[in-house]
Amino acid sequence: MHDRTIAELTEGLKSKEFSSVEIVQNYLDKINASDLNAFITITTEMAIKQAQVADERIAKGNANILTGIPYAHKDIFCTSGVRTSAGSKMLDNFIAPYDATVSYKFNQAGLVMLGKTNMDEFAMGSSNESSFYGATRNPWNKNKVPGGSSGGSAAAVAARLAPFATGTDTGGSIRQPSSLCGVTGLKPTYGCVSRYGMIAYASSLDQAGPITQTAKDAALVLNVMAGFDEKDSTSAQRDVEDYTQSLNNSIKGLTIGLPKEFFSEGLDNNVASEIMAAVKEFEVLGASVKEISLPNSKYAIPTYYVVAPCECSSNLSRMDGVRFGHRCDKPKDLEDLYLRSRTEGFGEEVKRRIMIGSYALSSGYYDAYYLKAQKTRHLISNDFKKAFKEVDVIMGPVSPTTAFDLGSFKDPVSMYLADIYTLSANLAGLPGMSIPAGFSHNMPVGLQMIGDYWSESKLLNIAHQFQQVTEHHSQIPLKEVV
Ligand code: GLN
Repeated sequence: MHDRTIAELTEGLKSKEFSSVEIVQNYLDKINASDLNAFITITTEMAIKQAQVADERIAKGNANILTGIPYAHKDIFCTSGVRTSAGSKMLDNFIAPYDATVSYKFNQAGLVMLGKTNMDEFAMGSSNESSFYGATRNPWNKNKVPGGSSGGSAAAVAARLAPFATGTDTGGSIRQPSSLCGVTGLKPTYGCVSRYGMIAYASSLDQAGPITQTAKDAALVLNVMAGFDEKDSTSAQRDVEDYTQSLNNSIKGLTIGLPKEFFSEGLDNNVASEIMAAVKEFEVLGASVKEISLPNSKYAIPTYYVVAPCECSSNLSRMDGVRFGHRCDKPKDLEDLYLRSRTEGFGEEVKRRIMIGSYALSSGYYDAYYLKAQKTRHLISNDFKKAFKEVDVIMGPVSPTTAFDLGSFKDPVSMYLADIYTLSANLAGLPGMSIPAGFSHNMPVGLQMIGDYWSESKLLNIAHQFQQVTEHHSQIPLKEVV
């Protein structure tokens, strides 16, 4: 049962092949038997209760399409009455007093939360190794990272510990772990999904989205997640779409842009050939290919690694040991309270970024770093605007390599460099997806698709058509087959 897609599970619930309680118990057993460290908190009792309520709703005939479907929730979304740690010691004792809008919507829809997934501390990282709770392992090879920061979520879906999971993507954190774990991940347009109650990393970049087995499932979940929220001032006021509606459209005549900057030095040869094989598959489906250029994408790393730390240094200033979170023992005075609470509560990577951000925002340096980065961000967006006059979708790799060994990156900058292909979409606010496209040395390779603003339906359509003629998305790591 655990390897079924959401679409298949909803069929089984409808036909009474199994109940929600049965599905949920099945996944909980798998989670408890797993050694991937994909979960920070498992909400067993609550899940069973929610599943019972879901079964009652189904019996009474007032269920929604996803009622009774279980999911794993990234531990960055506030969940009322349940610890919300953001992977940090700072929030290890934080029980959220309210639900994030995404959590609230899932509850209303009758979805069942299995637990909260492991993540890089405050979503800063590309490997899950910065989590206070220890790294998650990649189900395809347990000596390798699952990617980050939504590594627990991607590993959980890849190992079929949950039919889907939530993720957030500030600079690639949905797409990169999805790519490294061989699952489907969608980062919507900035403003599509409410950020209310999602612990902020870099507010102008953060965006939540689904991690699933298939594009069809991603459409089903996005239907619940997306939509205007008056509690989030950057939420877009748009009509709600049904993202499943255009899945079956033909993609004949589609123009794919391949940016030459995404296929240059640093890209692993095997990854490149898997990506090109996937592009060929699209040509068979009737698409044509055009080489394009995104000349300013080479500045994405320095731009992002100024903007994101600046915003995080400001966002994390609320973690001061006074109102919530970790507080040091017996502070001498207020300054000692701040100093020791933050010193003890934050990990190394988070401290590094707070210091970079505070430095770049300080008077005298603001113009040289922050302002300059904002200007470059504009240039990066303009490259995309130009490209989308010529092509319908941009394709390329998500990550320059497949999953790397745990502990293999010794210095932070080389890890930052691996974000090269994902950061631009966040800086521009564009939607992006990672879909399973093949394997290199038994490790998954993800194809990235970047679309124009609000083209989620089109991206899902393109991905769905690809998944109708390929099998990569239905591969399961051998050891996980029970
Ligand atoms: N790897 C990037 C970083 O470390 C992106 C993380 C994210 O998208 N949350 O900041």
